[in-house]
Amino acid sequence: MDVPGIELNNGTTIPQLGFGVFQIDPSDTVEAVSTALETGYRHIDTAQMYGNEAEVGEAVAKSDIPRDQLWITTKCNNSNHGYDDAQSALDESLQKMGLDHVDLYLIHWPLPGKDLYVETWKGLEKAYQDGKTRAIGVSNFQPHHLDRLLSETDTVPAVNQIELHPHMQQAGLRSYHERHGIRTEAWSPIGQGRGLLDAPELAEIAQAHGKSAAQVVLRWHVQIGNIVFPKSATAARIRENFEIFDFELSDDEVKTIDGMEKAERLGPDPDRFDR
Ligand code: NAD
Repeated sequence: MDVPGIELNNGTTIPQLGFGVFQIDPSDTVEAVSTALETGYRHIDTAQMYGNEAEVGEAVAKSDIPRDQLWITTKCNNSNHGYDDAQSALDESLQKMGLDHVDLYLIHWPLPGKDLYVETWKGLEKAYQDGKTRAIGVSNFQPHHLDRLLSETDTVPAVNQIELHPHMQQAGLRSYHERHGIRTEAWSPIGQGRGLLDAPELAEIAQAHGKSAAQVVLRWHVQIGNIVFPKSATAARIRENFEIFDFELSDDEVKTIDGMEKAERLGPDPDRFDR
């Protein structure tokens, strides 16, 4: 099954569906990532914060998949804000993963209280110029954080990776992204597998297509243009989450899911998170 590619604002193309490894224990990561790669995933989303970059690299090395067919994202940890630290943090990630470049390097959180995200972004611009990453972006940035990057630096982020699922749809940020050529990456796309997947609206749509609630939600993301990377350490679910390109939601079904918005965050509010 072919995963569609989404073109970013610097001409690179990211697979729209990937595999997220947040909270996968390092001892389970090689197996989980290997299963994902065998299933057909070619995009892995990790971070310095997740503590499993070395194991992601090990699975990639074991796979024999040519490097140019893979998309690897990692993120600058909150302890590494600053022009120099952001670059040396990427050097360390590359060393851990055994790679000479990543495909996407993100600032993980803006940390407004530290007020270093503009300097950090300039560090990412330098890493990009040095060929250590094929694209740069941010995560958990609000419009007013993005405004500063747009006015004070030379590069528009290729993506903003934000909490986004049917209970937290981020209409404001999505339209900001659209206006500025920034792609939306959705984290916790299936709401961390908690309450969301029990919603009766999803059960009805899932039944109509012979799919699971998780597959319906992932399909909704794909149809509204989001880039997604659901996490699972279970082989059957890793495969299930990949089987979303053989059915299509109707406009009415998309509207039903659009109607599930609750502005309900599972994670921290980026304006208040400074650690
Ligand atoms: P998710 O929405 O992907 O949910 C994962 C959980 O859902 C799993 O732990 C499992 O319990 C359950 N699950 C998985 N597949 C299922 C299925 N088919 N049916 C039923 N339940 C299923 O949540 P996530 O891991 O928080 O987010 C995905 C990825 O997003 C992460 O791995 C990470 O790469 C990224 N992320 C980024 C940030 C950030 O700040 N940038 C924050 C959180 C997550």
